[in-house]
Amino acid sequence: MKAIQILGEKSVTVIEKEKPQLQTGEVLVKINYVGFCGSDLSTFLGKNPMVKLPVIPGHEIGAVVEAVAPGVPESIKPGTACTVNPYTNCGYCPSCRNGRPNACQFNQTFGVQRNGAMSDYIAVPWQKVIADEAISSRDFTVLFS
Ligand SMILES: [Zn+2]
Ligand SMILES: [Zn+2]
Repeated sequence: MKAIQILGEKSVTVIEKEKPQLQTGEVLVKINYVGFCGSDLSTFLGKNPMVKLPVIPGHEIGAVVEAVAPGVPESIKPGTACTVNPYTNCGYCPSCRNGRPNACQFNQTFGVQRNGAMSDYIAVPWQKVIADEAISSRDFTVLFS
């Protein structure tokens, strides 16, 4: 599959990458749309001090569930439009333990501390998938922008 990779300041390329293999509890998501965020632009311009290069940018995701591994709830079905929460939460830091996983001090954002979604497919834990048959994959991209 193809992916977009930022190598460094004003340097971007298209790479060939293995399609992800699903682990238990993961969802394979087919990417249809990705918003180009201001933070991705900062990375491209060499002005994002948080970023780990090279990196696949993209965290505003409009996608469709392609496949599910064992351990994924039945509410997440192949063919359903979805977006993906682009953050991680460790579960152990003070913020996580106080019910504020959005403020996890060890958060890793797609396209910043880890590879993002500007590729044909990504595999993610089912808990990060927000799927809804009533929303189109294009409309999902605006949720995070
Ligand atoms: Zn953004
Ligand atoms: Zn945490």
